Amino acid sequence: MSDFAGLKALVTGGASGIGRATAELLAERGAQVAVLDLDPSSVDKPLLAYRADVTDDTEVREAVAAVVADLGGLDILINNAGIGAQGTVEDNDDAEWHRVLDVNVVGMVRAARAALPHLRESRHAAIVNTCSIAATAGLPQRALYSATKGAVYSLTLAMAADHLREGIRVNCVNPGTADTPWIGRLLSKAPDPAAERAALEARQPTGRLVSAAEVAGAIAYLASPLSGATTGTALAVDGGMQGL
Ligand code: NAD
Repeated sequence: MSDFAGLKALVTGGASGIGRATAELLAERGAQVAVLDLDPSSVDKPLLAYRADVTDDTEVREAVAAVVADLGGLDILINNAGIGAQGTVEDNDDAEWHRVLDVNVVGMVRAARAALPHLRESRHAAIVNTCSIAATAGLPQRALYSATKGAVYSLTLAMAADHLREGIRVNCVNPGTADTPWIGRLLSKAPDPAAERAALEARQPTGRLVSAAEVAGAIAYLASPLSGATTGTALAVDGGMQGL
């Protein structure tokens, strides 16, 4: 039996990496899935593609309205669009802080604001935010990125409390370093990409990067009726990094 039969899902940042793997998994399991992305040109059927920038409130509202019109409702929001930032607090200026916070934190707020009126109409409403181990791990050279994910974690808990009685569950996943195009871009800029990859792998207790499919599996669980009693949690998908 499909876990998602009859359910309608929207995945932000769903054209690549974790979002793409999640959109494909939900569709395989029977959901109707819409992808919202800055560049959805690579998105194929059965996924539906919508172009929007999560930093633009009007674009997000219009895209969510189009998704709801096309799918006939919305049950699941996967708030996943995000960007990286490297360095200590001395390395990023105010403009960079505002830019990354705008995508990683306010972008999730915008999508949630647009989706909530429709999620209230669902009997299986769920929001899953893509957070990160950076929210709690104290990673070096990731001050700004970690702060944005710390905010996503707190936002998840606050939203879970606010929307519990409306029947809307809100959870997040905390991936460790996941093998996605994002990491490919990061490695391609390193002086020695192979050594940098080995260092990232060594940071994981399992000695390997997490796969996008493994993160998608955790997101799908939190989005599905199988996790119906779970809200306000962070599920680590980090190869044991948090617990070991
Ligand atoms: P990715 O770069 O492969 O995919 C991100 C997607 O988000 C892209 O399709 C991109 O176009 C889209 N996007 C970026 N900015 C956007 C905007 N302003 N509006 C709309 N779409 C936008 O990255 P990924 O590795 O799959 O990361 C996805 C999420 O997972 C992010 O929130 C990231 O912080 C989180 N995460 C990633 C890792 C990792 O190691 N890859 C680890 C922990 C958490």
